[in-house]
Amino acid sequence: MTGATASVPAPLDVARVRAITLDLDDTLWPVWPTIAHAEARLQDWLAVHAPAACALAAQQGVVRRIRAEVQAEHAGLAHDLGALRREAIRRILVRAGDDPALADAAYAVFLAARQEVTLFGDALPALQALAARWPLVALSNGNADVQRVGIGRFFQASVSAADVGVAKPDARIFRLGAEAAGVPPGALLHVGDDALLDAQGALDAGLQAVWLRRPPGTVPGRPGAAHDGHVPHAPGAAPSCPVVSDLQALCGLMGLA
Ligand SMILES: [Mg+2]
Repeated sequence: MTGATASVPAPLDVARVRAITLDLDDTLWPVWPTIAHAEARLQDWLAVHAPAACALAAQQGVVRRIRAEVQAEHAGLAHDLGALRREAIRRILVRAGDDPALADAAYAVFLAARQEVTLFGDALPALQALAARWPLVALSNGNADVQRVGIGRFFQASVSAADVGVAKPDARIFRLGAEAAGVPPGALLHVGDDALLDAQGALDAGLQAVWLRRPPGTVPGRPGAAHDGHVPHAPGAAPSCPVVSDLQALCGLMGLA
């Protein structure tokens, strides 16, 4: 009998929600086109300032191999994708015989372009509606900055894995999100696209969660490419929380028209 009911997700208790933490990448904008764009800008910059590194990075599989190498050697930096990327750039410069001191400037080029996102069509209306009703806090493992992206006005605060030293699904980052929102974890709702990092992580930390599961084909991917670690996690078991297919549906679930 219990087995039959165990898979039914707990309904959202909207009355209990006093603040919302929101994931960013693949929740408010598709991350792969953003990263591809930023990598292209980085290559443009290298072509001018470090042509040998540019040529090396353009070789099939080189960037992916070096990033894997850096990730393996710096497991302690897994929460800091920016630091990993900067180190990968430095290594490419070294191997190509270019000046490794260019890594900081090169990374700055990448990071600036990484803020040039194209929001999902439902993101802005949802941010407007949600922010009018609840304090919003950005909670991301990535290195987007809501201020630089241009949506800072909707957020009371931002919590990023690189800044706080732990990444989702670690319960500590959700508790820091609650702190930033000024509410206890039980009064916080977390919304994100990743079943494990967002939904299950939030539930395990004592938050309510909504899993944003956009339909297949609506979130562009970049198969086979090395990236910031936004690999889709196959949920072993679906998180026990409500699922919405877009942010408009989230607003509906929250009782907003
Ligand atoms: Mg995400």
